[in-house]
Parts: sequence; C-alpha cells; structure tokens
Amino acid sequence: MAVQRMGNRQSGWRPTRRLLLGAAVVGGAVLWGGNTIARLMRSPSSAKDAGRIADVDGHALPLQPLENAPSHDAGLTWLTKGGTVNDASGLSRTPIYGMVEVGSEKDVAEALSFARANGLKVSMAAVRHSMGGHAFDDNAVVLDMRNFNAVSVDATAKTMTVQPGATWHDIQNILHPRFAVKAMQSTDIFSVGGSLSVNAHGMDHQAGSVAGSIRSLRVMLADGSVLRCSASENADLFRHVVGGYGLFGVVLEATLDIVDNAVYRTSREIIKSEEFPRFFSEVAGTKPRDRPVLRPSVDGTGKLPRRHDRLSLRKSGRATARRSTTDRRARCGRCQAPDHEPGEMGCAVPGSEMVHRKDSGAAL
Ligand SMILES: Cc1cc2nc3c(=O)[nH]c(=O)nc-3n(C[C@H](O)[C@H](O)[C@H](O)COP(=O)(O)OP(=O)(O)OC[C@H]3O[C@@H](n4cnc5c(N)ncnc54)[C@H](O)[C@@H]3O)c2cc1C
Repeated sequence: MAVQRMGNRQSGWRPTRRLLLGAAVVGGAVLWGGNTIARLMRSPSSAKDAGRIADVDGHALPLQPLENAPSHDAGLTWLTKGGTVNDASGLSRTPIYGMVEVGSEKDVAEALSFARANGLKVSMAAVRHSMGGHAFDDNAVVLDMRNFNAVSVDATAKTMTVQPGATWHDIQNILHPRFAVKAMQSTDIFSVGGSLSVNAHGMDHQAGSVAGSIRSLRVMLADGSVLRCSASENADLFRHVVGGYGLFGVVLEATLDIVDNAVYRTSREIIKSEEFPRFFSEVAGTKPRDRPVLRPSVDGTGKLPRRHDRLSLRKSGRATARRSTTDRRARCGRCQAPDHEPGEMGCAVPGSEMVHRKDSGAAL
C-alpha cells in the first residue's frame, strides 16, 4: 500500500505556486489585450452631440422651437417635422421647423414657395461638414440636398454639369480614369453645393479655389426666380453665391471645368534650414506648370532628420508622433519606384487607391 501511494504522488499532476502565478499573468494579459482590441474596434459608445453651440458670451443658447408653427404642407417630402438638426461633428444642434428632401428644381421651388407663404426661413444642408452653427438657422425649413445629385459630362468642352447634392466622390467615380476634378478639397466626401458655398480650396495651388473652376451656375433666389450667373454674367450675384454659405440663393446646377487626369509623383527632400532660401528660389523659378506642391515640415531638434515624422491620432484622442521608416532613398515595396511609399500618389501598382492614371482610352 505504501508503495502504491508513493507511485500516485510521483505521477499525479499538482499545480505549483509558480504555475498558478504564470497562468494568472497570462490570463490577465489575454483579458486585458482582448478587452483593449474590442474597445478599439467598436463604434463610438454614445451619440456625438455637443448640444447647442454656445453663444458669444459662452452661455449655451436654449433650444426654442417655433411658437404657433404652421402645419406642414402635405405636398412636400418631409424627412422630419419639427425636431432639430446637427452638423456632422455634432457641434451645433439647432431647432428646425422641419427638413424637406429635394431631388429636383421643382422640389426646391415648392419648398421655397411654402416658406415664403408662411414667413419661414430656409437653410440648406448636404453632407453637413460645415460646423460651428452658421450653416443652419433657428426654426428654418431645411432643404436636404443630397438626392439632388445628377452629373453629366461634356468630354469635348471639358466640363461637367452637376446638381448640388453630388459629392466629389461620386463625380470622381464618373470622371475616372480619363478626366479629373480641377479644384476640390483635400478629401472627396463633400457635396458640390456645400463646396461652392464655402469656396473651398484644395492642395493644388495652380487650380486655386473652386471659384476658378466654375463656368456658370444656375441659382434660385428667395422669390423663386432662377438666374444664371458666372464671372461675366450677373457677376455680382456670382461673387455673393460663391462663398456665400447659402445666404443668397439655392445653387441648382453648376457647370465646372474638368481636366485631363495626370500622374502626380511624391518625393521627399531633406534639407538644412539655411538651405531653404536657395531651395525656395529654385522652386519659385520653375514654370508654374512644373512647380511642385510643397508641404514643408520642420524638425525642431535642429538635427538633420534622416526620417520623416508624422502625426497620428489615437482613438483616445491623444496625438502621438509616429516615425516612418523610410527616407527619400527608400523604394516602394510594390512598384519599386524610389520616391514614394506603397499606396501614395504615384504608385503604379493596380489597386493602390491613390493611383491616377493617364488617359487609358476608356469610356468617357
Ligand atoms: C475633415 C474636413 C476636411 C476639410 N477639408 C477642407 C479643405 O481641404 N479645403 C476647404 O476649403 N475646406 C475644407 N473643409 C471644409 C469643407 O469644405 C466645408 O465644410 C464644406 O462646406 C463641406 O461641404 P458639405 O457638403 O458638408 O456642406 P454643408 O455643411 O452641408 O453645407 C455648407 C454650406 O453650404 C450651403 N449649401 C449647401 N448646399 C447648397 C446649395 N445647393 N446652394 C446654396 N448653398 C448651399 C449650406 O447652406 C451651408 O451653409 C473640410 C472640412 C472637414 C470636416
């Protein structure tokens, strides 16, 4: 019996203190890691809504719905009756009379007519990325422009005629690969109407702001009349509407220049600060057509950086500096060109999102 017991003691598994401690550490790490990954992957836990934007004195303005509001015309397509509207960032919750979906010139005319008959103000909203409270008026009839978005292209005249709710993204999908938008913001999520109304600019200094790409506009005024305007026709209206935040009329249609698609190449040059004046005059001396778009960044340490610092925003909202591992001598791992990273503009490998090809002779 004694031998038997001894044998059991030798072959049986008994957790030692070290093993238990190790298991607890590993289990804790797995739990913490899993929880962190799940937290980083999930959508924001609450609605983005900072409430009503504060007035100039720093006091939040109360939401004041309209008293004795007229009844909503059954002939209009109401997306909301009463309630509030907010910009995309949730910074400017504003009480409104209601929001009407418009998809045609007739819809806009009918909505304006209803607003005139009832003494209501009118605001326009598309992608709603203009933030700060200036894009909506209290208790206004808000026209949702997003479905008013047809696009047609005249390849011979190198123009496109677009309705205001079209986004640059939609347009690029139509123009690509033969043509490109002449001037737009640095991202393509915005509507044409919203972009003309703020006279947006992009990164291309040769194109300037969107105003320079407009051949003509058709605009509906508050009284329902429609006027065509451009830099040479009804020029006063034109310069008010472009950059006028919707205060002077509703843009119904815009005819804009388009340009041949072109390949842009990115390159990085690292220079000492004392060399900058020489570098700048060299660049200034090049022909406007060949002049590069420069984005200088300065290394504050005073050392000549061999690497390139970028800012990245973590989900926590804290800014962290990330060091990229390439310098200008690095080669793209996809197309092996020496002057950019994979996926940057200029990468000639299909599937790279930012590739802009020259005329491929396709449909347009
Ligand atoms: C992440 C980000 C990046 C940005 N980058 C740039 C940039 O590179 N360059 C730049 O210049 N700006 C930039 N902006 C600002 C952006 O260009 C403006 O906010 C633009 O108005 C957004 O378009 P939207 O479709 O969201 O317009 P909305 O916010 O929906 O509307 C903006 C204004 O246009 C008016 N409007 C809309 N449709 C019409 C219409 N049919 N007729 C008359 N008025 C109308 C509205 O009344 C409102 O006042 C950026 C903004 C964000 C959030």
